[in-house]
Amino acid sequence: MSDYRVGILGATGAVGQKFIRLLEGHPWFNITSLGASSRSAGKTYREAANWIEATAMPESVSGLTVKECEPGQFPDVDFVFSGLDSSVAGKVERAFAEAGIPVISNAKNFRTDPTVPLLIPEVNPDHIDLIKSQSFTEDGSGWIITNPNCVAVPLTTSLKPLFDEYGVESVILTSMQAISGAGYPGVPSLDILGNVVPLISDEEPKIHAEPLKLLGNLEDGKLTHADFPVQATATRVPVINGHMLAVTVGLKKKPGSAEEVKELYRNWKSPIADLDLPSAPEYPIFYHDDERYPQPRMHADAEKGMRTSVGRMRSSNVLDLSYVAMAHNTVRGAAGGAILNAELLVRKKYL
Ligand code: NAP
Repeated sequence: MSDYRVGILGATGAVGQKFIRLLEGHPWFNITSLGASSRSAGKTYREAANWIEATAMPESVSGLTVKECEPGQFPDVDFVFSGLDSSVAGKVERAFAEAGIPVISNAKNFRTDPTVPLLIPEVNPDHIDLIKSQSFTEDGSGWIITNPNCVAVPLTTSLKPLFDEYGVESVILTSMQAISGAGYPGVPSLDILGNVVPLISDEEPKIHAEPLKLLGNLEDGKLTHADFPVQATATRVPVINGHMLAVTVGLKKKPGSAEEVKELYRNWKSPIADLDLPSAPEYPIFYHDDERYPQPRMHADAEKGMRTSVGRMRSSNVLDLSYVAMAHNTVRGAAGGAILNAELLVRKKYL
């Protein structure tokens, strides 16, 4: 199981650095190659990266020479993680898949491709079989999987028990998104300090569409998306890590009470609970009985940032239920989610 050789594309960026930090000491995956733009290629990682993680740069990578993101430069990897900027991710990830190198991506470019799994292991682990319908290589050795937008992760994870038990009719939410979600240097400090910015460009369409693919039904190799409207207002708030969502949901079958729904969350069992994946949290959904919680500063790092925290479940005056959900955007919503995807792919023998 151990000793997979792993490359990281976009290694110098905010998500790339999070990959490096989370993979330090990983029991299965060893980083052997790093890639970034031609601005960084040829330099050592220490020289190329403006390291923004709160722990020291691991020595195992600091001396590696950063490469151009071309498959020929990565002969020594079993697969790559991609934290590439979306302006280049489409072209580069396709080139790697066509060269027979599996790509586990954070970028948005392939998320809507009908043959590419958009994956949250605790929500739709069966969707990885979509890989079989990809045609990047004749022998199936090269393929792409993606993880969702960082709001879609806590939104869909928290909807999953409701979707299965009651059916979802409609969703309205406001996201309060942390500044680390904008990469580095991100939002200018004069825009965000003591302020709320009521627009995150290009964000709401992803929040509207991705839960429907994630909650879709895969049968005979064909994915049918879930069908309900989602209305999101995406805002940026002066929080460093942890996207908070205020969600109101309409359900097909009506729950008896908010208390019944809390019980549903408390008793919910993740479909990957028995697979013993190194990065899987014990409680992928944690329901907070204390009505003051969850809060990003207190709970974003719970279970190494891999948990979706839920609280304030109550009946809604407009639809059926209102609640809040929160998850660490660069861990669960990006690099940590991608690493868990890779662990599931190992267990399911795709890697
Ligand atoms: P970032 O800090 O701007 O990093 C972008 C990375 O892409 C850098 O390593 C950069 O290398 C590389 N790059 C840029 N242009 C390139 C080119 N022409 N060829 C090769 N490499 C190139 O961005 P980020 O915040 O880490 O986000 C990375 C991706 O993850 C994006 O697609 C983003 O939408 C997605 N994502 C981010 C978050 C989040 O919370 N931040 C969450 C989920 C998904 P250089 O340093 O050499 O320029």
